[in-house]
Amino acid sequence: MANKYNIHLIKSRSSYSIKDIATLLNVDRKTCSRWIKKENLKVVDEDSSPLLIMGEDLKIFINQKRSAKKKPLAKNQFYCFKCKKVVEALNGSENIVKTGKRIGKNKIEQQKKIGLCEQCGTKINRFLKICQKD
Ligand SMILES: [Zn+2]
Repeated sequence: MANKYNIHLIKSRSSYSIKDIATLLNVDRKTCSRWIKKENLKVVDEDSSPLLIMGEDLKIFINQKRSAKKKPLAKNQFYCFKCKKVVEALNGSENIVKTGKRIGKNKIEQQKKIGLCEQCGTKINRFLKICQKD
């Protein structure tokens, strides 16, 4: 799905509002809000209104969505947006939390794994696949 987004339209040094991104990438504004709230798309300032996203961060985010599809992360790996690479979580920092959403036919509770990047200490998280036991 992520391949449909044309990231060549995104200018690294420009900032975009949710509305801009929705128009640019032809996605629903709700999708874009979800990227921010649930998938850690970085915003320039969480308190600003409207929220602004740097083009650079948006590109990284989309690229990461793409590569996540191609190559699944190993069980103990995360993608750190600050290090801009796949990292492991700091020993003992990992936790599994419920997102409060139910997904799929069987309404299984969605869970995500959170932790701290072992390299820079930034909060990192990833969604767990439905059947994935960890
Ligand atoms: Zn990091």
